[in-house]
Amino acid sequence: MCGIVGYVGGRQAYPILIKGLTRLEYRGYDSAGVALIGDSGKLVIYKTKGKVKDLEAVTADKDISGSIGIAHTRWATHGEPSDINSHPHYSENHNLALIHNGIIENYLSLKTELTRKGYHFQSQTDTEVVIQLIQYMMDSRSVSLEEAVPLALNLVVGAYALVIMDKDQPDKLIAARKGSPLIIGVGEDEYFVGSDASPIIEYTHKVVYLGEEQIAYIKRGEDLRITDLRNEEHTARISELEMSLSEIEKGGFPHFMLKEIFEQPRTLKASMQGRLHPELGEVKLSGVIDNRERLLGAKRIIICACGTSWHAGLIGKYMIEEFTRKPVEVEYASEFRYRRPVIFPTDVVIAISQSGETADTLAAVKLAREAGAFLFGICNVVGSSIARATDTGCYTHIGPEIGVASTKAFTAQVTTLFLLALSLAEQLGTVTDERRAQLVNELQRIPEKIEKILQHDGEIADIAKIFTYTRNFLYLGRGYNYPVALEGALKLKEISYIHAEGYPAAEMKHGPIALIDEEMPVVVIAPKRGNYEKILSNIQEVKARKGRIISVVTEGDTDVKALSDWSFEIPDSEECFEPILSIIPLQLLAYHIAIAKGRNVDQPRNLAKSVTVE
Ligand code: GLU
Repeated sequence: MCGIVGYVGGRQAYPILIKGLTRLEYRGYDSAGVALIGDSGKLVIYKTKGKVKDLEAVTADKDISGSIGIAHTRWATHGEPSDINSHPHYSENHNLALIHNGIIENYLSLKTELTRKGYHFQSQTDTEVVIQLIQYMMDSRSVSLEEAVPLALNLVVGAYALVIMDKDQPDKLIAARKGSPLIIGVGEDEYFVGSDASPIIEYTHKVVYLGEEQIAYIKRGEDLRITDLRNEEHTARISELEMSLSEIEKGGFPHFMLKEIFEQPRTLKASMQGRLHPELGEVKLSGVIDNRERLLGAKRIIICACGTSWHAGLIGKYMIEEFTRKPVEVEYASEFRYRRPVIFPTDVVIAISQSGETADTLAAVKLAREAGAFLFGICNVVGSSIARATDTGCYTHIGPEIGVASTKAFTAQVTTLFLLALSLAEQLGTVTDERRAQLVNELQRIPEKIEKILQHDGEIADIAKIFTYTRNFLYLGRGYNYPVALEGALKLKEISYIHAEGYPAAEMKHGPIALIDEEMPVVVIAPKRGNYEKILSNIQEVKARKGRIISVVTEGDTDVKALSDWSFEIPDSEECFEPILSIIPLQLLAYHIAIAKGRNVDQPRNLAKSVTVE
């Protein structure tokens, strides 16, 4: 989950590393650190608890020279965020430095063993055992660093992306990965390393995605050498990055989250591009066409995901069941993988993950693969682990999502699930041509409808201020809008730290109704299609207990509005597309409440983007 950046070449490394860390800070941000081999030939480490700007303050009066370095922003798993626990970590003799993303599961037994052998540990992290183990291999077996790295990594259980630097080799970095992504940028006589492309894109578009269990020997002036844990050689395949620099900058918005909310009319079009044929009322997904038999023959579909993607998955269930009449189950990947689930070879498992690196979802995919199920991935990051581990799939194509609270990925995932549902329905003949054409035409109008909702940003910001000191929120929805209640509540708690719960509206009377009083704002998603009358009764029930109602209604609504204290309007649409519209005011509401509370919305506490630990 952390940010990793490395550089070796002809320029000064420090400014490149710091800029890279700033771009990566969304991945983890409780501590930051850098290791450099300066002009004096010393291997120095500067690190601190806090943000990248705190690191810059630490290095202000230090020697930051050198044209090789590694840097890290941490998302602590083992040991509290502190100066000492920050990365990089030295080896015993201070000749080696290491940065690491992931978890070393057997760190305790390794640490005990190494301590017994006289190695001293400074931090509480799991990470430090890796660099000590490498040094131990060099010391005890008299082997080179290059030989020691695979020897040590073969003893390590867990997940890692890591980069190592050696004082005695000031032109070389060694990088390795297992379970966490790592990218190497190839420039003119220089190399870059990143846990994603964002620190690299500014300098080169040529990259090598390090494969699973591979080790890269990155030496200035030489070609990349790639081996694996069994010491087998691999060719370094250079790919071209498709992303542009503007996609990872704020573009005039105060926060990435707001930029990404406002990007949704465009990103939704990008998710549909080349896949809709409105003149024929058809959806064309190559992943479906190429695997027609396997997908159409599915007896059951299981959707596995975490967090926001799980909410998108719930909407996907409603869509797939409505249009294809195939049974769909939606699973938390973390539960699915550990509870000996029943998976049949006739099942199709859909894995949803923005980053394509979500550790639990990836593990669920592997489990489903062993059971012989057919695997369909819905990811945003091209070439990501889940995209590669699935049989086929569909990218959402929305560009990088940097705000930790997912927004544009959610609407794109729902859109992609719709495309999948409709293309299956088309092949199965479960939806008439006329109805399909209606749906396809309406989907095309969704981006301009979102545009319309976004025009009310100012009003939503004004209403948000009223809730600056509110402590609890309840979100209610029914049918397609029940997952929106979950997602709306998640957005609010993630970035404002206000306790919020999402519930199916009818479930309220089985418990949460006890919470309602004049203090309690209840957000009710009540557009006019599907269960409108029922939700109107639920609103009455809240009103009767003096709850304050914030509603999301269809333009022109009078009944729900009359009962509400505040209302946000969305344009009318097909019921299955209502979630894509109704979530927009809720994203803005969460954003503006968090701003009113003075929260750091792009880097909310304890969270990080791309959850690569289980
Ligand atoms: N497990 C390591 C630690 O706690 C690495 C965490 C990370 O990926 O930032 O230090």
